[in-house]
Amino acid sequence: MNARSSTSIFLAGAALAALLLALLAGLCHLLLQPGLALYAPVLVRPADWFFALLIATDVGAYVLLCLFFLAPVPARAGQRIQPFLRTYARLLFFLLRHVVPGKKRQKRLAHAYIDYLNQLVLRRHLRVRPEKILILTPHCLQWDQCPHKITRDIHNCRQCGRCPVGAILALSQAAGAHFAVATGGTLARQIVRDLRPKAIVAIACERDLISGMEDVMPLPVLGLLNRRPNGPCFNTDVDLHALRVLLETLTGERYERT
Ligand code: SF4
Repeated sequence: MNARSSTSIFLAGAALAALLLALLAGLCHLLLQPGLALYAPVLVRPADWFFALLIATDVGAYVLLCLFFLAPVPARAGQRIQPFLRTYARLLFFLLRHVVPGKKRQKRLAHAYIDYLNQLVLRRHLRVRPEKILILTPHCLQWDQCPHKITRDIHNCRQCGRCPVGAILALSQAAGAHFAVATGGTLARQIVRDLRPKAIVAIACERDLISGMEDVMPLPVLGLLNRRPNGPCFNTDVDLHALRVLLETLTGERYERT
C-alpha cells in the first residue's frame, strides 16, 4: 500500500475519532446542563458557548487535517498550522487506539498515522542542509554478533555488509548527514539534544517511531518502519532505497546507490 492510500486510512479513522470527540463534548454538555441550571444558572449560557466552540473547533480542525493533505498549502501557512494539526492528529490517534479492535487493525492504523505525520512534513517542501539532518536508528539493526561498539561511535562500524548499519553509514557519509544508533528513547533524546538537527530521518518499529515522532515535536521527523524478518528487536532490517529517497527529498540532492 502506498503512503497516500495509507494516509487516507488515517483520515477515515480520524473522522470516526473526531465524531467521537464531538459526541463526548455533547454528552458532557447534556450531563452538566441540569446541574448548572439548578445551582449556577449564570453559567448556563457560557457553558453552551464553551461546548459549541469545542465542537466547532473539533469539526474545523478535522476539515483542516483533510485539507492539508488534499489541497496545496502555502508554505508559510503550512508551517504555522503544523503544530496545531500534529497535536490534534495525536489526540485523534490516541482515541482511535482505544476504540479500534484487534492487533492487526491497530498495526495498520499505526502505519497510517506514521504516513500521515510524514505527509505533514513532506508537504512543507523543506530544504535542509545535509549537516543539519540526523539519521537515527535503533540498535537492533546491528548484527547481533558484531563486536564493534557502534552506539558509542558509529565510525567503529567496519561496513562489513553483515547488517544494514554499514550501508546507512556509507549513505550518511555520502550525503554529509549525521548518523547515530540509539539503544533506547533516553539516548535518542540525548543525541537529538546534543546534535540539534533541523530534521530527523528516524528508523524504528511502530511504537518507538510514534513516540519518538511525538516527543520531538515540532522538529520535522520522517519516519521509516524497520523490517523484522527475525522477530522484534533482533537483527532487523530497513529499506535502504526508501531511506535514500527520504534523505534526497529533504536535501534536494541525489546520492549514488551505496
Ligand atoms: S556492518 Fe558494521 S555494524 Fe554491521 S556487522 Fe558489519 S561492522 Fe558490525
